[in-house]
Amino acid sequence: MLYIYVFILGSILTSFYMVVATRIPNNESIVTPRSHCDNCQKKLCWYELIPILSYFIVRGRCSKCKKKLSIAYPLLEFLGGTLFLICLLKFKISYEFFLGIILSSLFILISVTDFKYFIILDSVLIVSEIFVILVNLLFKSNLLLINLFSGLLMFLIMLLVKKIGDILFKRESLGGGDIKLMFVIGSILGLRLSLVSIVISSFIALFYALYSLYFLKKEEIPFGPFLVLGAFITLILKDNILGLII
Ligand SMILES: [Zn+2]
Repeated sequence: MLYIYVFILGSILTSFYMVVATRIPNNESIVTPRSHCDNCQKKLCWYELIPILSYFIVRGRCSKCKKKLSIAYPLLEFLGGTLFLICLLKFKISYEFFLGIILSSLFILISVTDFKYFIILDSVLIVSEIFVILVNLLFKSNLLLINLFSGLLMFLIMLLVKKIGDILFKRESLGGGDIKLMFVIGSILGLRLSLVSIVISSFIALFYALYSLYFLKKEEIPFGPFLVLGAFITLILKDNILGLII
């Protein structure tokens, strides 16, 4: 039963995250107006707000103007639920479970804003960091200071990489958002695992960059979603990775 609850919670939160990630960059309120059709402004009724299922209930179209709805919504809601479920299956209800939930949430939020607008919202990073600190205080208060220090070190390392990259490539190599994001990831994973996660992120990003260059003909890709994905994978495989590097 708990598994079903956690999956549903993940998909409901994801549908809220998508409101946040599409409205805040346009300076719109996340409370009003209520969720509506982007084409005809019709307010959504209760069954059109159910994550994942609503898309199938309305058969992928707005019930008033019949405009096609993006399949990205139910897919992302399903992904959000699945990521939450993976955390529960791997960690049960524990310190790591909540860290996994924070990373899953960051992944959804940052993927939407970074792929769509090439930005990572400061407000998203600040709220995430507050949750990281709360989870630390609840479960591992003795690790709080060392985790914050790891975040600071990761921030400084990324800043240094950016300065060197900017000189080498003669253009902006890393965005400011990526650097601030590594503070949050550093305070979640600690120093050693954060460094491992950057390697994993870079590999995945490299494959995506090649795909993007050859098939989508786009030269620039956002790095933020890959940093969080690498961090999530590192957290899930933590024990295996620590066994390898110690
Ligand atoms: Zn409509």
